[in-house]
Amino acid sequence: MYSLVINSGSSSIKFQIVDPNADAAADPYVSGLVEQIGEASGAITVKHPGGKEVVEKQIPTHKDGLAEAFRILDEQGVGPTQLDITAVGHRVVHGGMVFSEPEIIVDAVVEKIRELIPLAPLHNPANVDGIEVARELLPDIPHVAVFDTGFFQNLPPAAAVYAINAKVADEHKIRRYGFHGTSHEFVSSQVPHIIDRDPAHTRQIVLHLGNGASCSAVVNGQPIDTSMGLTPLAGLVMGTRSGDIDPGIIFHLSRQAGMSIDEIDNLLNRQSGVKGLSGVNDFRQLRALIEDENQDAWMAYNVYINQLRRYIGSYMIALGRVDAITFTAGVGENDQFVRRDALDNLEMYGIEIDPERNAAPNDGPRIISTDNSKVKVLVVPTNEELAIAQKAARLATKA
Ligand code: ADP
Repeated sequence: MYSLVINSGSSSIKFQIVDPNADAAADPYVSGLVEQIGEASGAITVKHPGGKEVVEKQIPTHKDGLAEAFRILDEQGVGPTQLDITAVGHRVVHGGMVFSEPEIIVDAVVEKIRELIPLAPLHNPANVDGIEVARELLPDIPHVAVFDTGFFQNLPPAAAVYAINAKVADEHKIRRYGFHGTSHEFVSSQVPHIIDRDPAHTRQIVLHLGNGASCSAVVNGQPIDTSMGLTPLAGLVMGTRSGDIDPGIIFHLSRQAGMSIDEIDNLLNRQSGVKGLSGVNDFRQLRALIEDENQDAWMAYNVYINQLRRYIGSYMIALGRVDAITFTAGVGENDQFVRRDALDNLEMYGIEIDPERNAAPNDGPRIISTDNSKVKVLVVPTNEELAIAQKAARLATKA
């Protein structure tokens, strides 16, 4: 039994065929990427048990891309209609205040996701494209929408409300929604078992540090705060996004630099963060530059760590007692220096990383604090596709 998981972006579609009961560290049964949709040349890459296929050709639309990918899988005997696929799970970025839980997709659900486009103009249209194409190609399998914002739907009002004019905020649905919810939920739900605590009495911080980055404070399974906001631009310094900045910078750039809103949007989302300061957004490259004593890379790293520590500190106060701090996603799982520096010199607060445990290679969920550390520090690999596969399979069986 498998789930097909689809993550449809504006010019690409990522997909996986996953056994929802598989181990979190297992490779997906099949994975694929359709790239450069709508451009002069595109590519489809498919990995399956028998090997890897790459087809380079023009891909005019999402439908062409997914149909071609399915055709390649069919040829290899692992097409979605040839396998026992019980559910198709779609990652949907913005569920607004409408969706807190995954939903079986019917026309009315697609319509509501479409109505939420003003809240996520870059993401939700591509998610809708992916849903429509996949429903057309696989009409006999239940499709399920899983929302990035869902986990954070019930944040306490004091954390969700922005101190801007209440009437304007209400009219335009401006509040903190939070993103990466599937990952924060997946990781935070594993932590109590790893540290042998009752999940109903566990207070924790989750640091999802990938190319996008966010953190959350979770009390007994429920988030009480998170760093992303109305959009995924807020919070931590990221690969290419600024994270929190003085909002006055936007007016300043508009008035003094004559930049348009779209130019500022592009600057803050794609040309800022670690890349904006150092020229690279991948932490492996950043590390190599730091080792070469590149000053810009060093500055980018220090700004990144400083912002991370600001959030850790504020969530420790919000939580009062902290049982665990967990690192996840590409940087969090692999970069021991980020982990060391994020929590350096906090012994007074009961946080003590064990250097040897921290330096051990990425090998599944593990504790990296000392035995004496009051706050347990962990690395727990995330697997958003598996989490979506599980949610989709669960809902499809009920339907
Ligand atoms: P996303 O899903 O947000 O694109 P990931 O969680 O896959 O991101 O994280 C990608 C990032 O993880 C890369 O840009 C890179 O900075 C970082 N990364 C991956 N592997 C390593 C590694 N071995 N050491 C340090 N950083 C790594």
